[in-house]
Amino acid sequence: MRRKSEEQIIQKLPYRCPYCEQPISYDQFNLKVGENEVKCPSCQRTYIKLVAPSLTESDQGSRRQ
Ligand SMILES: [Zn+2]
Repeated sequence: MRRKSEEQIIQKLPYRCPYCEQPISYDQFNLKVGENEVKCPSCQRTYIKLVAPSLTESDQGSRRQ
């Protein structure tokens, strides 16, 4: 049996620079929880990127019913 692999991980939010609206990959930045200064590679302007704790830590809370 052949299985078509169509898995594409699109978990990362495509974020755009608020100034020039170029898509920015945050992989290159060492983002921490809270405020991060991000310098846009395209227009070289700096803005604040807010990172919520729930985005960086996996939710290990148990589901209770
Ligand atoms: Zn920009």
